[in-house]
Amino acid sequence: MTLAEARSLTFAHRRKVLLVSTPTIRGLSRIEREFEASDQRRFFVPCPHCDAMQWLKFDRLRWEKGRPETAEYLCEGCERPIAEHHKTRMLERGEWRATATAADPTTVGYHLSALYSPVGWLSWQRIARAHEAARGSDEAMRAFRNTILGETWMETGEAPDWQRLADRREAWAPGTVPERGLFLTAGADVQKDRIEVDVWAWGRGLESWLVDHLVLEGGPGDPACWQQLTDLLGRTWAHASGQTMTLARLAIDTGYETSAVYAWSRQVGFAQVAPVKGVEGFTRTSPVTGPTYVDATVAGKRLRRGARLWTVATSTFKAETYRFLRQDRPTREEQAAGALCPPGTIHLPDWADGEWLKQLTAEQLVTVRTKRGFARLEWQKLRERNEALDTRVYARAAAWIAGADRWPEARWADLEAQLGVTKPDGPQDGAAAATTVPKRPMPRRRTVRSSYMR
Ligand SMILES: [Zn+2]
Repeated sequence: MTLAEARSLTFAHRRKVLLVSTPTIRGLSRIEREFEASDQRRFFVPCPHCDAMQWLKFDRLRWEKGRPETAEYLCEGCERPIAEHHKTRMLERGEWRATATAADPTTVGYHLSALYSPVGWLSWQRIARAHEAARGSDEAMRAFRNTILGETWMETGEAPDWQRLADRREAWAPGTVPERGLFLTAGADVQKDRIEVDVWAWGRGLESWLVDHLVLEGGPGDPACWQQLTDLLGRTWAHASGQTMTLARLAIDTGYETSAVYAWSRQVGFAQVAPVKGVEGFTRTSPVTGPTYVDATVAGKRLRRGARLWTVATSTFKAETYRFLRQDRPTREEQAAGALCPPGTIHLPDWADGEWLKQLTAEQLVTVRTKRGFARLEWQKLRERNEALDTRVYARAAAWIAGADRWPEARWADLEAQLGVTKPDGPQDGAAAATTVPKRPMPRRRTVRSSYMR
C-alpha cells in the first residue's frame, strides 16, 4: 500500500488509489479498517412494493429451515417478501449512498455483498443453501461471511479441550525445527522469579510449531537471568534440513518490571527484540501498533525516548490462536499421502506436557454486559496460570512485527531456498507424517513451584 501510494504521488493532483479486498478477521482485516475510515457507501435499492430505499442485509433474507429454495428478502419498509426475479429492476434503480462521514472527505468506500449478484449469478436461494451448509463449522461460517457477505468474521473464544490437543501431539525433538518451519520467533513472559520463553517456528500461511520451552530462573532482579536471555538471542536451533536458525524476533512483555525490560532491550538492541505491552479489546484498529518511543533508564542514566514499545491487542491473537487450534486437519494417513494442513495450523510436540497445554487453553472469551447494558466480549481466565498462552501471543506478535502477515510469495520462497527445502506440494515427510513415539519429559530448566499464584 505504501509503495502504491508513493508511486501515485507523481500524479497527486488527479490520482486515485484503489484498495480492493475481501475482509478477513475482525481486528486483523486491513480492508475493514480502510472502509471504516471512509464514507462507507452502500448500494441502496428500492422495494418493488413500497419503493423504500434500503441496502441489502443478510439477516433480512428468510427461508424455512432446511428449505433454502423458499428464500425471499423481506423489505425493511413494508415487511413484504421480495423475490429473486425483482432483483434486476431493483439493481437498475439503485444508487450508492454514504452511510458515514469520512475524516478525509476524499476517501470514499464501497461495500457490496453477494446479495446483490445479478439474476443468473449467485441467487438468494444458493446463498441460503451455502449458509445452511456452513452451519456447525467455524471455518465454513467464516468463509461464508468473508466471501459471500464481504464481512469480517468475529472470533469466538471457546477454549479448546487440552486433552484433545494432547491426543494430536506430534513427534519432534525439543529444540529442533520441522521442515516446513521457515523462521523463528520467541515470546518472553517476565514473572517475579523467572522469565518463561517459548520459541515458535512459522511456515507459509502462518502454520506454526512449538520448538522450545525455556524457564530462565531468577527473574528480572537477577543479572544472570538477563544474561541467559541475551544468550538466547545468539543461540541457534537445528532445522530438519540440517541448517541452523536463529531467532528472527523476540517479543518480551513489559507489564512486569517495565524499566528492567526497557534497559535490557536497549542494551541488546531493537533489531531482534521487541518490548510489547498487551491491551484488551477488539475494537482496536490493528493487532499491533507502534513502535512508540519511551524513556528508559540504563545504568542509572535516564534516556529520553531510549526504548521502543509495541502495543499488542492480545484479544485478537488469543482468538486467532484458539481458532487455529480448533480447526480440522487431515489425518496422519492423509498427511502422509500429501494432504496439507490448513493455514494457521498449530503443531504441538509430544514433549508439551499437560501443565503447558492447560496453560495454553487457560482462558475463554465470554460476553459480558456493561453497566449501561451493552454487550462486550472479554477474555476470562479459567485457570490461574496462563504463561503458555501469553508467550504464544507475544511470539505471534513478533511474527507480525517481523512482517510475516504481509510477506509476498517471493519472501517465503527465499526462506525455503535458504533452508534448502521446497514448497510443500507433494507427499510430506518428517513432522507432518509424524507417528507416536515414546514421550520425552518436558525440557524445562526446573520445575516451577506451585506456590506461585497471583
Ligand atoms: Zn417494501
